[in-house]
Amino acid sequence: MKLNFSTEPSPSQWLNWHWQLEHAAHSIEEAAELLGVAPEKFASSRLAAARYPLFVTPYYLSLAESAELSDPIIRQCMPNDDEINCQQGGAPDALAEDATSPVPRLVHRYTDRALFVTGNICAMHCRHCMRKRDWCKMLPLPTDDELAAAVEYLKSHGEVREVLISGGDPLMLPEESLEKIIKAFSAVPSVEMLRIGSRVPCVLPMRITPRLAAIISSGKPAWLATHFNHPRELTQQVSDACGILNRGGVPIVNQSVLLKGVNDNAETLGKLFTSLLRYYIKPYYLFHGDPIEGAMHFRTGIEAGLKIMDELRGRISGMALPAFAFDLPDGNGKIRLQPEKILGRDENGAPIFKSWQKKEISYPN
Ligand SMILES: *Cc1c(COP(=O)(O)O)cnc(C)c1O
Ligand code: SF4
Repeated sequence: MKLNFSTEPSPSQWLNWHWQLEHAAHSIEEAAELLGVAPEKFASSRLAAARYPLFVTPYYLSLAESAELSDPIIRQCMPNDDEINCQQGGAPDALAEDATSPVPRLVHRYTDRALFVTGNICAMHCRHCMRKRDWCKMLPLPTDDELAAAVEYLKSHGEVREVLISGGDPLMLPEESLEKIIKAFSAVPSVEMLRIGSRVPCVLPMRITPRLAAIISSGKPAWLATHFNHPRELTQQVSDACGILNRGGVPIVNQSVLLKGVNDNAETLGKLFTSLLRYYIKPYYLFHGDPIEGAMHFRTGIEAGLKIMDELRGRISGMALPAFAFDLPDGNGKIRLQPEKILGRDENGAPIFKSWQKKEISYPN
């Protein structure tokens, strides 16, 4: 929708990421003004905004079709008092990320992959964020000592082939810091590749510049794992950003979160997944929401996700289908679930499956 500005931005201002961040909304009042509605419209956002601060760029807000809390864009960026009131069973750190660090900032959960946390700055505060517990903490840039300790750990753990660089959002780091981190991990001989987790291509696509792409690809082969949840997030700016990454040699995968009231139906997700391929983004995961305090109201239940995956299989390109997955509590790792399952056995003992057209077919061994 068209936003409301006291002075209308020029097209070059709109496409400038500094301008977007300088004009980001940090309060209900600022967001309501941009949306051209009275702040009272967001009366049921006050408690949540006080606990988990609002932060959204004009670019992302402009993707909304209305200022209603039910709009899938508004639902991802505007506080909602459900974040405080409907949170039974949630924990701030349900995946025990804080407890599984061998050295500060490094989470080594799977044998051949380790995850490095760069900070807690993002280009938006996504209301469903699994790390929203950290929004109000000051997590400064990694110091040289912290980076050196992580590098030492990786050198003495030659089984780690892949380093995930996460945050916050690593693409919000100053370019020198990002470059230093990429160089440091790339210099470890046993590290074969990097994976950068960033929502910047979705919420601040103008931040993707040829210079940034050059930094990302300046070390070991680097993939970008991004985070789109709704087809309306795919715009001309996203297409431009993906083009830059592509030409810069950075392949992109997407990790969506299944979110109640945003994308919890086969039509929306089918459109998202097939559209992503046109932007050269491979759908990689569809995550069921973690039991995170402040994000419980987005959870759908695993069965709802399996049902959607079952409706999509066979109907859309196999390349567009991500793996449906969730994380076990307390850092016990990811589980992938397939909607296809063995329904039973026929008279010869062969397993029976349900085809994508819902026919029961047995598969002789
Ligand atoms: C998700 C995750 C990974 C990566 O898992 P993949 O299945 O390879 O995407 C690595 N480390 C941690 C701590 C994770 O949570
Ligand atoms: S960009 Fe990622 S880490 Fe940052 S607020 Fe959004 S979901 Fe959380």
